[in-house]
Amino acid sequence: MLVFMLGVMLPAAALIVTGVSHLRTIQREKAIEAVFQREYQQVLAIAEKRIDARAYDIADEAMARFPKADQGDELETFLAAHPDIVHAFLWTGKGHIEIQSQPDRMADPEFEKERRSLASMFGHWFDLESNDWIAKLKKMRVMEGRRAYFTSNWVSRGDKWQYQSVVLFMPRGSTAEHPTFAGFVYDTDYLSNKFFPQALNEVLPNQNTNDTHPQPVIMVRTAKENVPLAASMGWDGGSPEVERGFEGVFPGLILGIKLRGTTFANISNHFARSNYLTLGALSLLMGGGMLLTYRNVAREFALAKLKSDFVSNVSHELRTPLALIRLYAETLELGRISNPEKRQEYYEIIRKESERLTSLINNILDFSRIESGKKEYSFRKTDVADLVRSTLESYRFEIEQNGFQFEQKIANDLPQVWVDREAIARSLLNLVNNAVKYSATEKYLGVHLYRHNGGVKLEVVDRGIGIPAKEQPKIFEKFYRVGDPLVHNTKGSGLGLSLVRHIVQAHGGEVGVESEPGQGSKFIITLPVQTAEAQQAKGMSV
Ligand code: ADP
Repeated sequence: MLVFMLGVMLPAAALIVTGVSHLRTIQREKAIEAVFQREYQQVLAIAEKRIDARAYDIADEAMARFPKADQGDELETFLAAHPDIVHAFLWTGKGHIEIQSQPDRMADPEFEKERRSLASMFGHWFDLESNDWIAKLKKMRVMEGRRAYFTSNWVSRGDKWQYQSVVLFMPRGSTAEHPTFAGFVYDTDYLSNKFFPQALNEVLPNQNTNDTHPQPVIMVRTAKENVPLAASMGWDGGSPEVERGFEGVFPGLILGIKLRGTTFANISNHFARSNYLTLGALSLLMGGGMLLTYRNVAREFALAKLKSDFVSNVSHELRTPLALIRLYAETLELGRISNPEKRQEYYEIIRKESERLTSLINNILDFSRIESGKKEYSFRKTDVADLVRSTLESYRFEIEQNGFQFEQKIANDLPQVWVDREAIARSLLNLVNNAVKYSATEKYLGVHLYRHNGGVKLEVVDRGIGIPAKEQPKIFEKFYRVGDPLVHNTKGSGLGLSLVRHIVQAHGGEVGVESEPGQGSKFIITLPVQTAEAQQAKGMSV
């Protein structure tokens, strides 16, 4: 048991405890959320790069078609070819800035105001810092190979601030002596309706809105507002779980990502829950397995103990009659006993002891046949009354000599029953022997046979030591003996009742006991009436 505890229970318990604490740590440290965070930070960084590249491509294409430094009057044509651009301007020297805007929006006074403030802002900028701008754009060209400088502009439309993206560059024809600057402006509408939706879907391609697995969805918002300016397909509202501010092309815009239909915390909880469940189920299985093993081991232990008790009991049982037989036979052999009565007594003892031996050996042989499945019964139509009477007859004298009051009640109206005579006689003798063995001061033996439900009942009654209620179901088990074998003063093999039960069941009957400690016991065999065929079939199968 100690080995079992140490070898199986401890590792199993350790495994469960480690599993639970591991899961707890994962939950406490929000490890799964952290993995998602890291993972999606990277996704956003890559997304930003791709979006930037796309913006540069589009701007490059527009810059290539932008009027040359001395063709300020071409701005209108440029705007007509680029409807996505709202304003375009050209700075040709201090105080000289030319700005054109999409003509169909000029009727709007707000728009007109926006155009004028834009012209004055960039006009001043270039007037004051033209050298800085030259240096900045040059550095960009050298370091990054880019001609365009992206910046942002906030304009108020109604009650809202709107984001515009401004591209600044030096147009074709700008020289070191006469530096010129140019720029054009992408409006919010273009960014939110066209540029970003396309760019975001390109960043997260293969979106399948029917897929039930959580998929990442991405959005872009301005730093001033939480609602998305644009989002990828399948965006299902809510706030992004990981965000990243644009660093290069779109200053003031923020990229956000989340999982459609769920959150990192949900996934983490689900993970923990399913792991706890698995752990629980495995623990239960393990516990069940251990319980079964424990029970099996315990049963094997008990059986091993019973067997060893059995061996010591049987050897004792064999030794006692043999010793007696030898003693009396030797005494007789010496011829010293002249008293014929005494001699007769010795012969009787020898006979009785050899009968005891025979019945013990028969029990053991029967038991071994039953255990190996080789026990066969031969059923014959029998007058049970006759069988019981003749079986008890040879014992009556002995029983009464032992000081027993012997009462035999056999009914007259008994039916004939199909039985194996020898087996039934042996069952009866086992019960009678027990009654005699386990009687103390009040020596009474009753054998009653009467009709019951068409069959018969055979009762063996004593007023002996009785059997405690909790032992009663166990006494029919093989090798089982009530009490501690070391303090047992009545020897036995523990086989008798198990044989009785087996024999009676083979007859389709039942054996039971009613008993009270100190009061006595009543063993009842019930034999049903069965047809010859049924009995024969049963006999074969046993
Ligand atoms: P045993 O060889 O020990 O008598 P049995 O199988 O015949 O084996 O009986 C099993 C146990 O049941 C006995 O050891 C005894 O404790 C108990 N027992 C059987 N018959 C009686 C009885 N008539 N009165 C009290 N105890 C009994």
